[in-house]
Amino acid sequence: MSAAALHDLGVAELAAALRERKVSSVEAAQHFLARAKAHQNLGAYVALNEDATLAQARAADARISAGTAGALEGVPLAHKDIFVTRHFPSTAGSKMLAGYQSPFDATVVTKLAEAGAVTLGKLNCDEFAMGSANENSAISPVRNPWDTDRIPGGSSGGSACAVAARLAPAVTGTDTGGSIRQPASFCGITGIKPTYGRASRYGMIAFASSLDQAGPMARSASDCALLLSAMCGPDPDRDSTSLDVPAEDFSAKLNDSLDGLRIGIPAEFFGEGLSADVRAAVDAALKEYEKLGARLVPITLPRTELSIPVYYIIAPAEASSNLSRFDGVKFGHRAKDYTDLVDMYKKTRAEGFGDEVKRRIMIGTYVLSHGYYDAYYLQAQKIRRMIADDFQNAFQHCDLIAGPVAPTVAWKLGEHGSDPLADYLADIFTLPASLAGLPGMSVPAGFGEGNMPVGLQLIGNYFQESRLLNAAHRFQQATDFHLRRPEGF
Ligand code: GLN
Repeated sequence: MSAAALHDLGVAELAAALRERKVSSVEAAQHFLARAKAHQNLGAYVALNEDATLAQARAADARISAGTAGALEGVPLAHKDIFVTRHFPSTAGSKMLAGYQSPFDATVVTKLAEAGAVTLGKLNCDEFAMGSANENSAISPVRNPWDTDRIPGGSSGGSACAVAARLAPAVTGTDTGGSIRQPASFCGITGIKPTYGRASRYGMIAFASSLDQAGPMARSASDCALLLSAMCGPDPDRDSTSLDVPAEDFSAKLNDSLDGLRIGIPAEFFGEGLSADVRAAVDAALKEYEKLGARLVPITLPRTELSIPVYYIIAPAEASSNLSRFDGVKFGHRAKDYTDLVDMYKKTRAEGFGDEVKRRIMIGTYVLSHGYYDAYYLQAQKIRRMIADDFQNAFQHCDLIAGPVAPTVAWKLGEHGSDPLADYLADIFTLPASLAGLPGMSVPAGFGEGNMPVGLQLIGNYFQESRLLNAAHRFQQATDFHLRRPEGF
């Protein structure tokens, strides 16, 4: 098989070529490692370990020869650097964890390895997954392969960039408030965040524990289904919030008919904040769904706007607690010169954390403090419940919800300057599903301003991942947006 064709193959095709011994896992890994190195300027990869990758690939080749291949046997994948890994440093994009080596693999990493996947390396992200542009990474920004002057989205920006630039056939990401869906949308790829609790959080460096969820990012919905099937499943001994719901074969219903599917269109997702180019692409995608037999049903998610203040209280509150473990004693960075223990804590945290992380620790500590807890944190929790209830009301009238992923296409690097609110506001359409714990995905649906990709967001009720993937797959059978590639890749 020619080297040039290798990075054009999807996960399913590559897995088949590997099983048929048209290509070896070592060859595939070497091909993607060479591409990762050749495109270092994008900033997608933050760690490679060729020896470890090739050792895993050789083991996969041996299993293929022995006829004991798993579903993803020999397929090279890369992981967001928020998952801890034994053979690669795990930094969460932070100076605090520079060079940190975990003694174990995250459950999601282990599960993918058990299915036969080979790890290519670790992918850049916003520091502790806090961000919408990947500009909060302490390591480097990431460039969008469709226009290298633009951001790839965040926080899984390295992940989205790697798939779009064909530096990996598929990758993992995490989504706390949109970090799989929004970068997938900005880079023209497909990504799904499952129902909260379906994938184990064990070994995912925690940002906001009641929201964090892992998921796959790939070029197609069918490839996402393959990865998701391997990633999900209960992990009762290691993650107390992992649900006792068995793993599922998410590929089984991809081809089901969409005839009669009721797609809810929330009025609040199509208001004045939505830019005209994104709206046009989303409207055209919805027309395509009608052609496929679906019916569009107007619905309302009346508390959409409140999801921003609610999320930016709850997520920082949980982050301030989660990040208290980085104190210079147990993990990562420790300041060199200090006078006593308290001084050591202060200097370590002042040096190790970036501005956005510090901002969130301060906000989180404030909203949890005595006297403000009731006014902010408790209120936010109550509204969070109402947002979840709004979805349940909506699902009385529809099977799926569709709308934009983000109000605009990817913006220019540096465009939001030092205004964090500009980033926060751009999360408006992804936060509601996160707060409700619902599965959501982004599907390439067209192009907008500057010829940048636009994603269509699909949101399902709890455990409706199969239905989401089915709807996305049928759309991808009828369109070719997910097959388009950025020039030069
Ligand atoms: N942009 C959101 C934030 O900054 C979401 C990030 C995420 O999903 N990890 O918190």
